Amino acid sequence: MLGWAGHILRVNLTNKTHKKESLTEEFVRTWVGGRGFAAKILYDELKPGIDPLGPDNKLVVALGPISGIPAPNTGKTVVAAKSPLTGFYGDGNLGTRVTEQLRKAGYDALIVEGKAARPTMLYIEDDRVEFLPADEVWGKGTFVTNDWIYGKYGKGVGVLNIGQGGENLARYAVIRSMEGRSGGRPGMGAVMGSKLLKAIVVKGTLPIPQADPQGMKAVGTGDLKKIHQIDKDTGWSRQGTTGVLAWCNEVAGLPVQNFRKTSHPEAWKIDGERLEKARVATYGCPTCTMRCGIAIHDKEGHEAEMDYENIGLLGSNLNVFDLDQVGSLNYLCDDYGLDTMSAGCTLSFYADAIEHGATMGDFRFGDAERAKELLRLAAHREGKLGNLLADGSLRMAREFGHGSEAYAMQVKGLEVAAYNCKFIPGMALAFGVSPIGAHHREAWIITFELKNTTRDSYGPEKAAKVIELQRIRGGLFEYIVSCRFPWIELGWSVDNYPKYFNLVTGLDWTLDDMWKVADRVYALIKLHYIREFPNATRKDDYPPAVWFDPGNADTEGPIADKYLEADKYDQLLQHYYDGRGYDDRGIPTRATLGKLGLSREAEAAAKYATLT
Ligand code: SF4
Repeated sequence: MLGWAGHILRVNLTNKTHKKESLTEEFVRTWVGGRGFAAKILYDELKPGIDPLGPDNKLVVALGPISGIPAPNTGKTVVAAKSPLTGFYGDGNLGTRVTEQLRKAGYDALIVEGKAARPTMLYIEDDRVEFLPADEVWGKGTFVTNDWIYGKYGKGVGVLNIGQGGENLARYAVIRSMEGRSGGRPGMGAVMGSKLLKAIVVKGTLPIPQADPQGMKAVGTGDLKKIHQIDKDTGWSRQGTTGVLAWCNEVAGLPVQNFRKTSHPEAWKIDGERLEKARVATYGCPTCTMRCGIAIHDKEGHEAEMDYENIGLLGSNLNVFDLDQVGSLNYLCDDYGLDTMSAGCTLSFYADAIEHGATMGDFRFGDAERAKELLRLAAHREGKLGNLLADGSLRMAREFGHGSEAYAMQVKGLEVAAYNCKFIPGMALAFGVSPIGAHHREAWIITFELKNTTRDSYGPEKAAKVIELQRIRGGLFEYIVSCRFPWIELGWSVDNYPKYFNLVTGLDWTLDDMWKVADRVYALIKLHYIREFPNATRKDDYPPAVWFDPGNADTEGPIADKYLEADKYDQLLQHYYDGRGYDDRGIPTRATLGKLGLSREAEAAAKYATLT
């Protein structure tokens, strides 16, 4: 087996044991890595119905065959578990030195089981595994924890850690690394917290297995230089993703005031130009020359690393148009280890619910100081309000009632990323059918849709594009494990990725082979879903109801009086199901599962739910 270490490290925190397990050739070729490994391992090993915050849940840290090698933006790692936010498979990726170090330690993945008896830091160095006390940093934020670990082991080690949000089981707590990188939006940090696992530290000393290391080095380092040059020519990383804000504002796609409005005259105060001027540092993931983390000084003087989703959801969506204050909210989320997107949507939902009389409270849109306090309450689950906020917008809405669920901006429990799809049907579909809830990562169709199609079309071409993008973004990049930005932002051809894959593995795969794995992974995540929610319906693939409400349409601007039409959305959804070979509930049919080589997995699902 070339291109994979062929081993998984399984660690049990309850018993303080560890085991090095072998992977079969069939397993690695079927699931490749990252999201593929995680989805399969969790499908086979987790019983449906388990408590995601109990010891039976497992955290999977998974790499891909090109992870950590010198090639464009390969410093990413996938973290996955049953999500405490959505109740089924959840995952995320983050840039971290764990990627390279875990591969050098000789593993393709790490599985963490059980629950420690006290706050613990897991230290892995090749075959050595230590369970070390972490009481000293339990209760501390991610920045202090990261520094504490660097103080012990130096900056070269790979670190995954959590803040107070994860410790206190906030359902949208993330895992953090390298002081600025976050991953695992659907509560992967809370899963670590539930295991009393404060941090994972990894150091490896072995070479990363590759079929043709010399060939890969020549191609990879050459491509890194080319990407750096394209980036310099286009200036993309001067603003990173934050350049999107001005465009979203212009095309009426910006989240403003809990997605009630689609643009705002003060949006320029927090846009990419402003950030570029205020920038004090730039950060990036390992093996990346595009460094898209733009840091500014926040209101309190901390360095806050920003991206578009953060300024959209902690800024315009809360009606906060003061960049320093948006920076502060961003910094606090990062320090507490909360997902900035879900945190922003949960706070905006709370303000909206107060405004609509669904609950009482003193939080108003635009009140950044109170927002900071609410983040603190959520991260510590302090009081009744802190507990509610820590549970995310859907659970809050169910508690408040009064029809507030319609404007809880989430799908399947995961809050919507920063694109207001009041009248952007393809992007609304992308959120609706994202396999883990409303994540923008899977099929960011919005620019294609607004530039290349008619905005009011609900035609099959949009469903086909969503599938195409899912195969690349949520499929290929997540299982081969590499950052998608060279392809998205710099036009770096997707053909490069089978090239890297083949050099590393010695195989001879085409993009068609790659798409088949992508479809398999998506179908398996759907089986996770149906096992947990046997009564699933196509309504589960609908975006937030408020986007279908004519009363919520813009009253002026480019999309005045426009809104999503439910019957047309349903047709669009059907086009998607037809294109995927899914049934009317959005579940892969037995025939589709068979074609993807998932007949055994289908039988396992059929014990819990009906398959057609
Ligand atoms: Fe990380 Fe940004 Fe580079 Fe991607 S482009 S690897 S997210 S720094």
